[in-house]
Amino acid sequence: MRIATELMSQAEHRAAAIRVELDELELRKAGLVAERERCEAMAGRLRSFQVRAGAVYHCPRCWIEEESRSQMALKAGGGWGDHLVCELCALEVKLAES
Ligand SMILES: [Zn+2]
Repeated sequence: MRIATELMSQAEHRAAAIRVELDELELRKAGLVAERERCEAMAGRLRSFQVRAGAVYHCPRCWIEEESRSQMALKAGGGWGDHLVCELCALEVKLAES
């Protein structure tokens, strides 16, 4: 009967290890589902992004990631020449050359 007891003990340990692994997989799955939903929401916001309203430029990153219409300020000079800088997240965008 000693072999039967050892087999039972091994099976119990294996079952416990599988429970831990399944819990980790559930957490990973929940994280992936949340990330997928965030990406899908970002894609939806991309379609509604307005580059500017009148003379005010909006930050694409703030809109797409946070749905926030942050303003961008014109900065002159620097290595990029004239460019826009987001007043909230500091994203820098080079102005298109005409
Ligand atoms: Zn921004």
